[in-house]
Amino acid sequence: MVFNKPPRRGHYVIRGTTALTMDPALGELAGADLEIKNGELVAIGSRLPAAGAEAIDGRYTITMPGFVDSHWHVWGTLLRGVVGDGKRHGWFATKGRLGGSFTSEDFAAGVALGMAEGLAAGVTTVHDWSHNLMRYEDAEANLEVHRRLGTRVHFSYSAPSAHPSMPMEKMRAILEKGGVMPDEVMDFGNIRRVADERLPESDGLLTLGVGVRGPARSTPEVYRKEWALARENGLTISMHCAGTQAEVQRIRQVDILHEERLLGPDMLLAHCLYISPRERERLAANRIPVSMSPLSSLRLGMGAPPINGHLAAGIPVSLSLDTTAISACADVFQAMRVAVGLEAIANLDAEALSPRRALELATIDGARALGLDHLVGSLSVGKRADLIMVRTDALNMAPARDPAVAIVHSAQPANVDTVMVDGRILKRHGRLTTVDPSDVVEEANARLTALCERAGYRRPTVENGGPA
Ligand SMILES: [Zn+2]
Repeated sequence: MVFNKPPRRGHYVIRGTTALTMDPALGELAGADLEIKNGELVAIGSRLPAAGAEAIDGRYTITMPGFVDSHWHVWGTLLRGVVGDGKRHGWFATKGRLGGSFTSEDFAAGVALGMAEGLAAGVTTVHDWSHNLMRYEDAEANLEVHRRLGTRVHFSYSAPSAHPSMPMEKMRAILEKGGVMPDEVMDFGNIRRVADERLPESDGLLTLGVGVRGPARSTPEVYRKEWALARENGLTISMHCAGTQAEVQRIRQVDILHEERLLGPDMLLAHCLYISPRERERLAANRIPVSMSPLSSLRLGMGAPPINGHLAAGIPVSLSLDTTAISACADVFQAMRVAVGLEAIANLDAEALSPRRALELATIDGARALGLDHLVGSLSVGKRADLIMVRTDALNMAPARDPAVAIVHSAQPANVDTVMVDGRILKRHGRLTTVDPSDVVEEANARLTALCERAGYRRPTVENGGPA
């Protein structure tokens, strides 16, 4: 795959845009100018002098902070073509059959595909929860793609784990190909090596954590040790609290971690659809953020994410795509729209989750969940320039008036005209600057074909008659 050199951090002024700042002190500004210098937002106002700055025409655009996705297994995007519906070809079965055969090159191809799509759709920060790492080189390949694309990434190093609903024999067979058994501790030597080799050259765009299997998928000896090692090494701890209602109720992970005195604000949990009221209180008391993925929850039939319920309990909530092999595309606009719709139905109240609140969940609250809100998540003077410009003169957007309503209810990734991460322009006039999408797609197709051949997996395709 050929990457272009990331553009320099220049001196720009966006003129005459509608700024949806997500900064409570600034609110929404019509006809606004934003000045960006060396990667920082240095001024927001009207008719800024901005001497010497390159002007970017902001007319007919909404400028807002880029989306912060708080839980995305980006590598899995490579499997999008072979994940179908039903148990046999669903996400967990396909991940189980192909995940262990991934090479480092497959990681690179999957991450390039997922993240190029994500950047094009306005995701400027991703929590890349890489839960299939078998070798140090896999993490290296994964992170190198983010570096070349220019993404801001919180990377959770995470070993493969089979799904807990699988029979033990099947789980063992899968993990023997390249996983970590429930009674084995993850390789923290590799994680430290990632920190040593990758952090110094990251320009501040990379932060690190671990994705642990927790009480549902590893033994007490193992998760206790992993918690201790994560905290010794200053790494955030992310864990799934997922599965069917029965699975979640059988192993009350939050209660177990509470008893063990392991809960803390350095954690992040995904889903938490079926936690008890007591578990909710415990998450709120520990300020533990929960990442909710409306699109994947719906596709998997997991249930409707109780966003308002968690918020009302005092839990910090943010939004995520989980994996685009399930959520199907990196469309945060759609994720917000679905979140708003689900709450409207659950409460029989169209205003139950407002577009503005949904936008907070997808931007500033995501940044808070990742400990990055001092840098990104809102258009605020002094923060890094991670922003997107969405065109309002498109057929599906015009005649836009209320910017939050237009973004949540009308916008699509194709309306994202410009994307800036840390002051570097990664998309302009609708085109990515660091990579050619056709290269990424070609590589993904070739890698997926080779992966399926290597793993002896007959893909359901139109040619072979669809899912067997
Ligand atoms: Zn997940």
